Amino acid sequence: MKRIFIGLIATLIASSAGAQGSYHQTKPLDPINLDTTCAPCTNFYQFANGGWLNANPIPPAYAQWGSFNELAEANNEKLKTVLDDAAAHRTTATDADVRKVGNYYAACMDSTAIENAGDQPIQGALRQIAAINTPTDVKNYLISEAALGRGVLFRFGSTQDAKNSSEVIGGIGQGGIGLPDRDYYFKTDAATVAIRNAYVKHIANDLVLVGESPEKAEADAQSVLALETSIAASHLTRVQSRNPELTYNRKTPVQLAELAPDFDWQALFAADHASGVTAIDVSNPKFIVAVDSLLKAVPVSTWKTYFTWNLVSRAANALSTPFVDEAFTFSQNLTGAKEQLPRYKRCISSTDRALGEALGKAYVAKYFTPQAKARANAMVNNIKAEFRTRLASRTWMSDSTRNMAYKKLDAFVQKIGYPDKWKDYSALHITPGASYYQNAQAVTAFNNADDIGRINKPVDRTRWGMSPPTVNAYYNPLMNEIVFPAGIMQPPFFDPNADDAVNYGGMGAVIGHEMSHGFDDEGAQFDAHGNLKTWFTKGDLANFKSRTDAYAAQFDGRTILDSVHVNGKLTNGENIADLGGLTIAYAAMEKALGNKPRTKIDGFTPEQRFFLAWAQIWRSNTTPQAARARIATDPHSPSIWRVNAPLSNMPEFAKAWGCKSGSPMALPAADAVVIW
Ligand SMILES: [Zn+2]
Repeated sequence: MKRIFIGLIATLIASSAGAQGSYHQTKPLDPINLDTTCAPCTNFYQFANGGWLNANPIPPAYAQWGSFNELAEANNEKLKTVLDDAAAHRTTATDADVRKVGNYYAACMDSTAIENAGDQPIQGALRQIAAINTPTDVKNYLISEAALGRGVLFRFGSTQDAKNSSEVIGGIGQGGIGLPDRDYYFKTDAATVAIRNAYVKHIANDLVLVGESPEKAEADAQSVLALETSIAASHLTRVQSRNPELTYNRKTPVQLAELAPDFDWQALFAADHASGVTAIDVSNPKFIVAVDSLLKAVPVSTWKTYFTWNLVSRAANALSTPFVDEAFTFSQNLTGAKEQLPRYKRCISSTDRALGEALGKAYVAKYFTPQAKARANAMVNNIKAEFRTRLASRTWMSDSTRNMAYKKLDAFVQKIGYPDKWKDYSALHITPGASYYQNAQAVTAFNNADDIGRINKPVDRTRWGMSPPTVNAYYNPLMNEIVFPAGIMQPPFFDPNADDAVNYGGMGAVIGHEMSHGFDDEGAQFDAHGNLKTWFTKGDLANFKSRTDAYAAQFDGRTILDSVHVNGKLTNGENIADLGGLTIAYAAMEKALGNKPRTKIDGFTPEQRFFLAWAQIWRSNTTPQAARARIATDPHSPSIWRVNAPLSNMPEFAKAWGCKSGSPMALPAADAVVIW
């Protein structure tokens, strides 16, 4: 199933809750965080953050520690008060959503019941797999799992038709692999080989936990790796997956059956209450063809092992300590974290994922004010107006493309804080006494039914893709909407007590970033109505592409950990959004400052404080393991380059800090890229 969903940061970072004390900030920009031994024109990231980076090593339970984590930590303490309260009133609260949140969180926190149960919650499912004997049983198992929303091998769901965005059709995406990306199955460098070996050991350990002998488990784990490698071979790369034309393949059910004739699609649709589906967007036809032939070629016994491993892997975090520990031990290869998060933090994240809007409703009632919403709305409007001015002055663009760009900008839907219409959880049953695992399964089935139920219905434009407490933001090209959850409208992004420069360099640039996604290399392929359709003239498209390609090439040349290169094509959309967002927000700040006196604070002008604020939100220490994993999977560039790369292209930055052309932070005009 396709979800084109462009967030400010990767969600794996956004959802990680902090370990240390809550977010303390004595002043919006504290000079103690600087490294004044480093010249701002040499390495601005280090100049702005060196003091902080030195004083804030990564806490043992984290892969990364930075501003996002600090804010998420402060937010977690707020969510904990909401959840403790809901758990205390889980039988008496008048609001059914509060009872559900309370019951879910309480069951997750009930470690005694979870330990006593061991693998009991999945025993029935293990017996179901054990009873599989024939290739038909294998396919029927896939169908019954799909109907419960568990999506083994692939997931069928609803999606907007990318070329007719007012229509909701079916969608099938690629899936079936347990490592973070196809490349992990094929790369031969030492770091990747070590991860693959650890993965096989992890699969074997999980199989032993549900009763296999170590010898059989070792061989079975190798067969799972071999099967997943065959699946991975059919996967699109992450760069290919960013190409919306390539991933748009609308099929009728008959055409789908022609692609994969051995699988009973009608049976799957019927089991999933989607018999009325008339069109399916297959994001990667090659994957569906591969699945069809693997279902014929791979022995039933291998599928049974694969299903068992999938079941244990998905259930692990809701089971007893041996399962949780095994999952954590493997994850350390990708995160570098030294210890697990305390249970309550894992349960806060779990509840937020399961019942985000029920939790979010209680959270915003307590912690988000109408004033904050009004101020954020005003800021979005200012930045939108500035974007329009900016479009008017782009000389590389013809008037006909410019007029289409205005239309797209004017059609932006802005969502701020929390949904106008809350998600209806009345069909979800989280009952007192149910286990954490049962609750998690109930949520999965509920979300699946909710998702499938949208097929052939009008698009619901009130929906949100992130929960209100989330410290993140996103642009959705199919809806042409920019969305800012309440969670991000707090310091250091937005601080009611800070000067304009700090708020424009933080939240302002974030708003500009999301708007710019509508005009990045991917977003620009969608029109004002969210349809995948070229609206640039041929010449303008060539101008645009030469600029975005030049920007990608700059990032290809940037490295981390001495020699690991950033992928310029994978990160192009995010990099364009950062550069555009900063440029627009800076101009909006200049307008807001107007003729006011440009008073220095701590020796810095407002212009300088704008850039210090941007650098501050990206400060972060990262483990080498996480840094490598993110280079391979994350469409966002590493923190240091989210600061230094765009700023070194901006004449505004060079002027604010007096950087000479050709210094590391000021590219010569001929090399600097300007897009929006
Ligand atoms: Zn983004």
